[in-house]
Amino acid sequence: MSDRLQAPRGTFDVLPEQAALRHGVEQSARRILESAGYRRIETPTFEATELFKRTVGESTDIVQKEMYTFEDGGGRSLTLRPEVTAPIVRSYLEHGMHRLAQPVKLWYLSSCFRYERAQAGRYRQFWQVGAEAIGSDDPSVDAELILLLRELLDEMGVRGAALRLSSLGTAASRARYRDLLQAHLRAHEERLAADVRERIELNPLRAFDSDDAGTREVMQSAPRLIDHLDADDREHFAAVRQLLDGEGIAYDLDGTLVRGLDYYTRTVFEFTSDALGAQSGVGGGGRYDGLAQELGGAPTPGIGWATGVERILLAAEERPVPEPVVDLYVALAEPAARARAFRIAAEARRAGVPAQLELAGRSMKGQMKHAARISARYVAIVSQEGIELKDMESGEHEPVASESAVIATVLRGRHVQ
Ligand code: AMP
Repeated sequence: MSDRLQAPRGTFDVLPEQAALRHGVEQSARRILESAGYRRIETPTFEATELFKRTVGESTDIVQKEMYTFEDGGGRSLTLRPEVTAPIVRSYLEHGMHRLAQPVKLWYLSSCFRYERAQAGRYRQFWQVGAEAIGSDDPSVDAELILLLRELLDEMGVRGAALRLSSLGTAASRARYRDLLQAHLRAHEERLAADVRERIELNPLRAFDSDDAGTREVMQSAPRLIDHLDADDREHFAAVRQLLDGEGIAYDLDGTLVRGLDYYTRTVFEFTSDALGAQSGVGGGGRYDGLAQELGGAPTPGIGWATGVERILLAAEERPVPEPVVDLYVALAEPAARARAFRIAAEARRAGVPAQLELAGRSMKGQMKHAARISARYVAIVSQEGIELKDMESGEHEPVASESAVIATVLRGRHVQ
C-alpha cells in the first residue's frame, strides 16, 4: 500500500465544526465593520512579487524568507499574498478610488501565506480579517479603527486582550531617529546578536524585536522613537490617545513596538492575548501614509489592521458549535418508496424547510436512531401506501394525507416552537 498523503506542513483542513466557528468570526466582523461604513473587498490570492518587495520591505523577515514566490508559465514572478494591505492599496490606485468620497473604508477576510516555522497559532496558510481606511489622516480614523478591532475581539470573547500603542512618526522623523539608533547600536556592537548586527544598516529598528539577552540589554538604554517625534506627529498621536481615553480604551504606551512590516508611519498598535502562549499577537496594524507613493500613486494617507481568524478562535472562550437545523428527516419504510421520499425532501427544501433524506439504506430502527442523533424535529416515514409523520419531541405520530400536508405540518410545528 502506498503512503497516504497529508496536508502540507503548517496548513490545516477547515472541518465542518471549525467552519461553523469561523463563520461566527466572519459574521461579527461584517456586522461591526459594515455598521461603521466599511465595505468588503477581495483581491487576488497572488500578486506581482514586486508589490510586496516595495511595500513590506526588502529587509523584513516576510520578504527575505517567508514568501511563497513562483514563476508562472509566462516567466512573471508572482507571490502568494503574505498580507493584504499592499494589495488593497494597489487596488485603490488601480481603480482610481481617490475619486470616491474619502476615506475609502474597506474590509476583507482573506487567506495569507507565509513560510514560517509552523507551531500552535502559527501556520503557513492562515486567514486574516482586516480593515483599511484610505484617504484621511484624521486621528479619528486611527482611534475608530482601534475601537472597532477592540469590539471584534471582545465580541468573540478573546481572553486577556491587551493593547500596546505607539507612534513611529513620519518618514522624516524616523530617518533622523534612525541615525541616533544606529549610533547606539554601533557603540555596543560587540554585545549584539549576529543577525541584529548584520541589520544595523538595513533595519536597525528590528533590534527591538530580538530575543537575544545581550541585545535586549543594549536595547534597554537605546533611544526611543517616541521621544523623537516632530511636533505634528506628537500632536496627531496626542489626539488619537485623547479619543481612546475618552472611550475608556486601556492601552500601554510601548516605545519598543515595531511591527514586522516597513510601511508603517505614525500610529502603530497591537493586541495580544495572554491565552495565546508564544504567538501572543492576536491583531494589529497602523498608519501607512507613504504606501500609496511607494506604489507610484499620489501621496495618500491610510491606516488599517489585520487580525488572525485562527488566533481569535484559539484565544476565545470555548463556545458550543451550533448544530445544523434539521426540521424534517425523510425515512423509507421500504425501498420502493424511494421516489416518493425523494420528492418529499426536495419539496420541503423548496418550501424553506431544512430536510434530509435517508441515504444509507438503514433499517427502520437505524433510521429512527439516526434521526434522533441529528436532532430532527419531525420524521416522515414513507411507504407506497402512505406517509406517517412523527413529532420527535412529543413522540406522537399520525398518518398524513399528502406530501404537501407533511410540509404544512412541519412549517406549523416550527412556528409554534
Ligand atoms: P501581521 O500581518 O504580521 O501584522 O499579522 C496580523 C495578525 O495575523 C496577527 O496578529 C495574527 O493574528 C495573524 N497572523 C500573522 N501571521 C500568522 C501566522 N503565520 N499564522 C496564523 N496567524 C498569523
